[in-house]
Amino acid sequence: MMTSAEIRKQFLDFFASKKHQIVASAPIVVKNDPTLLFTNAGMNQFKDYFLGNKKPESTRVADTQKCLRVSGKHNDLEEVGVDTYHHTMFEMLGNWSFGDYFKKEAIAWSWELLTEVYKLDKDRLYVTIFEGDAKENLPKDEEAYNEWKKYIAEDRILSGNKKDNFWEMGDTGPCGPCTEIHVDCRTDEERRATDGKTLVNNDHPQVIEIWNNVFMQFNRLKDGSLQPLPAQHVDTGMGFERLVRVIQGKQSNYDTDVFTGTIKVTEEITGKKYGYSDSRQDIAFRVLADHIRAISFTIADGQLPSNTGAGYVIRRILRRAVRYYYSYLDYKQPLLFQLLPVIAEQFADVFPELQQQVAFVSKVIREEEEAFLRTLEKGLKRIDDLVTAAGKSEEKQIGGKAAFELFDTFGFPIDLTRLIASENALEVDEPGFEAEMQQQKNRSRAATAVDTEDWVVLKEHGMSEFVGYDTLEINSKVTRYRKVKAKGKELVQLVLEATPFYAESGGQTGDTGILSFDGELVEVIDTRKENNLTIHLAEKLPVNITAVVNAAVNREKRHTITSHHSATHLLHAALRKVIGTHVAQKGSLVNAEHLRFDFSHFAKVTEEEIAQVEAIVNEKIRANIPVHIKEMNKDEAVQMGAMALFGEKYGDIVRVVIMDPAYSVELCGGTHVGFTGELGLFKIKHESAVAAGVRRIEAVCGTIAATWVNEQLGQLNQVRELLKHPKELIKATEVLVTENSDLRKKIESLEAKQLVAIKQELLKQVETVNGSNFIGAQVEVSNADGLKKLCFELKNELDNYLVVLTANIEGKAHVAVLIDEQLAAAKSLEAPKIIKEHIAGLIKGGGGGQKTLATAGGQDASNLGQVTERVKALL
Ligand code: ATP
Ligand code: MG
Repeated sequence: MMTSAEIRKQFLDFFASKKHQIVASAPIVVKNDPTLLFTNAGMNQFKDYFLGNKKPESTRVADTQKCLRVSGKHNDLEEVGVDTYHHTMFEMLGNWSFGDYFKKEAIAWSWELLTEVYKLDKDRLYVTIFEGDAKENLPKDEEAYNEWKKYIAEDRILSGNKKDNFWEMGDTGPCGPCTEIHVDCRTDEERRATDGKTLVNNDHPQVIEIWNNVFMQFNRLKDGSLQPLPAQHVDTGMGFERLVRVIQGKQSNYDTDVFTGTIKVTEEITGKKYGYSDSRQDIAFRVLADHIRAISFTIADGQLPSNTGAGYVIRRILRRAVRYYYSYLDYKQPLLFQLLPVIAEQFADVFPELQQQVAFVSKVIREEEEAFLRTLEKGLKRIDDLVTAAGKSEEKQIGGKAAFELFDTFGFPIDLTRLIASENALEVDEPGFEAEMQQQKNRSRAATAVDTEDWVVLKEHGMSEFVGYDTLEINSKVTRYRKVKAKGKELVQLVLEATPFYAESGGQTGDTGILSFDGELVEVIDTRKENNLTIHLAEKLPVNITAVVNAAVNREKRHTITSHHSATHLLHAALRKVIGTHVAQKGSLVNAEHLRFDFSHFAKVTEEEIAQVEAIVNEKIRANIPVHIKEMNKDEAVQMGAMALFGEKYGDIVRVVIMDPAYSVELCGGTHVGFTGELGLFKIKHESAVAAGVRRIEAVCGTIAATWVNEQLGQLNQVRELLKHPKELIKATEVLVTENSDLRKKIESLEAKQLVAIKQELLKQVETVNGSNFIGAQVEVSNADGLKKLCFELKNELDNYLVVLTANIEGKAHVAVLIDEQLAAAKSLEAPKIIKEHIAGLIKGGGGGQKTLATAGGQDASNLGQVTERVKALL
């Protein structure tokens, strides 16, 4: 039987033989595209080619692309594991034509590959074509129909509607009619009983779509209309895991060698057996085998789990997996991280980035699992309480708010809450839950909603060339602009033919500056990249948008940013020297205020290491090393020792920044100083942890560093002054600290003695009221704790008692009420109730505590006498 690795290779070899260039998968985490968090189809990385914003190196390309479908337009998460053919992360095999071949070749080659190379049974195949759509004014795809007719019987060419046969990446963007290939994997007997044709596109688990050929012809605009693209393209996507299952003759994707390794390890770890069924236990096996891939590949591509955006999506996938093994495999410790070695090994040749970072990814997953398992246990306690309360109530129902809290805070999906509820003969208020959910969605939508209008294009194919490495001011023209509205604020985005403005990327923030149109000044408040366009953000449009524009970057700010960027390179190299070559960049931020550098390292960076790192960087600054920037072949750069970042996409030609070839060589698109001496001074301000296995250093250089150092020295001088200019500052401070703690100890022991004296005094004042012992007194104590301590002392000396002690501490009222358990029961009195009903009002405050001992505090200390009387009256 052909292995999955062989099947993948044959796909790529086949299209290479048809003159396609084989390219690498883009990272799974998307940067520079506000419409997507994750790659959801092979075509994402080529979007600009379809839109004409960029020219491809080759007009025929093929690859296998890591895709994730858990958010946005394509979201399969809830199906995963429940069915056997939708995954969170999957590989999409694809071939592309950028304005080269079209329907005829695409159809011929997909048929050839499936039937001649993979030798699929022709009478198990069906194809679908677009039937047209009157509303959109789109005709039936006759061309595709006529091409298919050459290979397949006409009764196997089915027509499909817009939902199935018109592919769109998102709400806007490239789109077009598509033709899909479906395979009927049922047994011969089943096939005789029901015609396969009737099961296509009907969610039958054995009659599944494997390949979609999209013919990109349109761009969907914001108003919903379709605009023809400058050229016609082919974009195909075949689900690798589904293809393998069909070729290997399996009933489920999980029975192929893509997943069986992981399932086997899960069996070994949990001691449970995978039974191929729809039981919750078997679903759990599938969920784990699937989710571990999505989690580990996104982390390897640089996305850590977090509370927002893409990081939150990863966190949710991970929690779904944890919840499944916890509940259905009865495994209560971190499990996912144990599956990592199998996955890393399996993909070492195709996606080596995982194997290369296996220790790091494993650490991140494990800590995330541990944290969530703790939350999960708290959640289970919470649900226990809810179940008990609901059991006693009349509705016998867990409320919508509570169910939502379980979901939102503890990660309990509604089906788990429902299950636990039904095990206890309870119901869940699901409409209430849905309403809460909707409210939250609306809240987050309102917070992040960006309303983007279509581009107004003044000049087609404006490539927006960046000239800002060498120049900070040029004359240019606007090629396109549009309005955007975010958080209620209207802004305009402008694209120029050429620009000196650096668009935020690689951690370096975007430039600010001025665009001057015929003397009218428009301020650029930020510069960002969207795919390959450099977008200038401004608050208004100029009157004369077609005029020549003078674009000038804020020079001073740019220089500070640039210095911080160069300092980041010096820092990175110094870290690798001092703490080891395992240090890999995990994120960076470079702006005019500081630089922030995140890197993989499992321990706190010690004071000495920080000092060493700082010293090396400053030494390199004083050496005034010339900074060389070269474009070269990627392999050449790697040979020079340049490190590529994980999750970053590089072309064949890369830009390399060299600060002494023996010290720092980095692939980098940012701006840099000419000589390291320009940085002047480098200071590390903080070192901290950001996530499991990731440390963060914040540092400054140049005048910012000088200012910061002066501030620190200023504070030191103030301290010196406060201590009256001692000869040895540190010694003097130590003496002060020691003295202070000695004094505190002395005071504590004196207070303890005093309390004993007060207690003796109070015991003399015991009154008998209606047969019970009562003490009511105002006492002198220095803090509220004193009252409590007195109560504890009195408790041991009395029985059948009610005690109320008050104190005026710096003008505030403090009260403690102590009552013996039997007396409390007999008189149905409880200490917190006494406070609430009889004391809180008198002292203008409140408090609480245990049944037998409660304390309160308040603003008004003038009625403490009355407090004692009131409590006494209760007897
Ligand atoms: P389906 O209707 O089965 O969800 P789709 O119409 O969403 O598929 P496309 O967007 O056309 O699929 O993607 C192209 C191919 O990618 C599909 O033919 C299928 O083989 C594969 N595919 C799509 N979604 C998934 C998924 N969640 N897991 C695995 N493979 C998938
Ligand atoms: Mg789908």
